[in-house]
Amino acid sequence: MILSSRNDHKIRELGEILTGVDLRGLPEDVELPPETGTTFDENALIKARAAREATGESVIADDSGLEVDALDGRPGVYSARYAGEDATDGENLARVLADLSEAESGRQGGPFTARYVCVIALIDESGEHLFRGTCEGEMILDPKGDGGFGYDPAFVPDATGTEDRRTMAELSPEEKNSISHRGAAAGMLAAHLGVS
Ligand code: IMP
Repeated sequence: MILSSRNDHKIRELGEILTGVDLRGLPEDVELPPETGTTFDENALIKARAAREATGESVIADDSGLEVDALDGRPGVYSARYAGEDATDGENLARVLADLSEAESGRQGGPFTARYVCVIALIDESGEHLFRGTCEGEMILDPKGDGGFGYDPAFVPDATGTEDRRTMAELSPEEKNSISHRGAAAGMLAAHLGVS
């Protein structure tokens, strides 16, 4: 099976969950299409269809990001490039926190509810399938922790319990995988493929 990505970290991580599946990255000569969709489903399908057309093999592709309710769901599908096309994780996080500081003056109190979303698209001989995993939590304005990546230092997941105020960046990789949106979507795909 082909994963429509050139991210070695993703290929290894998903390969570990999909035990028994020989997961390979996209061949060098196949161009990855631009992510022009406005939803995670669309972007995952755009990437999966390009890989399917080019290789004819069973393919998967994923798209993920952060949705913050006080920002009307932003950064959403723009999570990787929220502060600009080549923005770093730090710059993207800084922009979300700046947006939230402005939103704070107008909000009624209560937490900044948010969620990570991951959609995995599978295309095989039986057609197109979508698997959606979410991880609910809240954004805090003072980031902490140096694990994970992206928005993790400002995201406190619900799944660790209301007493536990650690951010995603303060969890071990195993703890993060067990509650993450990517782990959830990959688990659904594994169940569908009968490999879990
Ligand atoms: P992509 O699915 O690899 O394109 O990732 C989209 C973007 O969403 C990443 O660059 C991050 O900004 C954000 N993101 C997705 N998953 C996570 C996560 O587990 N932690 C932090 N940020 C994430």
